[in-house]
Order: sequence, then structure tokens, then C-alpha cells
Amino acid sequence: MELNERQEKILSIVKQHGPITGSKIAAQLSLSRATLRPDLAILTMSGFLDARPRVGYFYTGKETNDVIALKVNNILVRDVQSLPILITADTSIYDAIVKMFLEDVGTLYVIDDEQSLTGVISRKDLLKGTMSFKDTENTPVSAVMTRSPNIAMCYPDDLLLYVAKQIIDRQIDSLPVVVEKNGRIEVTGRITKTNITKVFVNLME
Ligand code: ADP
Repeated sequence: MELNERQEKILSIVKQHGPITGSKIAAQLSLSRATLRPDLAILTMSGFLDARPRVGYFYTGKETNDVIALKVNNILVRDVQSLPILITADTSIYDAIVKMFLEDVGTLYVIDDEQSLTGVISRKDLLKGTMSFKDTENTPVSAVMTRSPNIAMCYPDDLLLYVAKQIIDRQIDSLPVVVEKNGRIEVTGRITKTNITKVFVNLME
């Protein structure tokens, strides 16, 4: 359940001034008591507010955790995704390392000639590459990348919470955000631990 803007306003008025009557809340919002009735009913039924006869509405204190949960359950991948950094499978390990430094990212996504996702390259993959192959300037990233179909992906409309769980379960740093079009897997973004940490800080602030 998501609180609408008016319900959020009511909640903050009751938090500041409660116990407060419905008419006084309505006056503060320059609305009629009747207009507010459905919102007050929702806030009361879902446990944010309690009402005492002749005293008015007061705040139950249910808020913090539940409101944060409500907010988290409304954040979608598309709201926080960042830009993906793409390379082709014939890029050398050396060039991929340079790209990672220049773009300041920890993961590169590998696409084929049709711009469809075929692999993922992480820092550890590249470290492994430098230890296994002497000539990193002439060894392609395809030698060390994680390949389809073993790639964990997500979609713009997925819940961020679902992606965060995948990152933990699969012990990875990021997921490509993809859109499937005519059998092609187009990479349109990425969700990283940094995106998720930013959301966490924003919620707390
Ligand atoms: P790092 O290697 O920098 O610690 P990760 O933990 O993300 O970064 O990568 C660990 C391994 O998981 C690497 O082999 C990488 O190719 C692979 N990997 C990374 N992201 C994904 C993903 N979305 N799906 C499947 N495998 C991935």
C-alpha cells in the first residue's frame, strides 16, 4: 500500500499537533471534513493513526519501519538505474582494464554485433585474466567473461528490493538492466551496490 500525498500531509499534521480533530486537520489543509474522510479512514485502518471519540486523531508510532517498507516496496529499477558500460567480446583484457579505470566502474557488459548481451566482466575476471594470460593485449575478454545463460539480469519495472536480494544471493556486485526486443537482450542500465546504498541513505535522510 502506498500513501498518497494528502495522506502523507495528514500524517505529518497529526504527528505535530495530535491529538487533533478531523475538522482541524481539514482546516489546516483548507479542505472539507467530508473530503478528508476516506483518507482518515485509510490511515486509521492501516494503523498509522488512531481515533478517540471527542479527542481526535493521534499518531500511533507505527510509522518508521512500516513507512520505510512502504517506500522501499515502491522503488523500481528504472528509478535508480545508472548507465551501463558496454564492450564487445573481442576487446582485449588490457583494453577492458583501461576502460574500467576510465569509466570508473567495477563491471562491464559484453554485447555482440546485434547489441545483444552475451557476457559480464568483473574486476576479478580481469585479475584472473592477467594471471592466466601473459599477452593481455591480445587475449579477448571472451576468455574470462561470465556468459549467457548464466547472467543474472533485471528489467526496468522490477522492484529494486528483488534486485538487491539477487545481488546478495548470487554474491555479485551488479545486475544489467535489460529490455528484450525480438530475441535481442538490449542492455539499458545497471543496478549496482552503490545505487542501492544511495537509496538507503536517501530513505534515512
Ligand atoms: P568482482 O569480481 O569485482 O568482485 P562480482 O562479485 O560482481 O565482482 O563478480 C564475481 C563473478 O560473478 C565474476 O566472475 C563475474 O563475471 C560474475 N558476475 C558478475 N555479475 C554477474 C551477473 N549479473 N550475472 C552473472 N554473473 C555475474
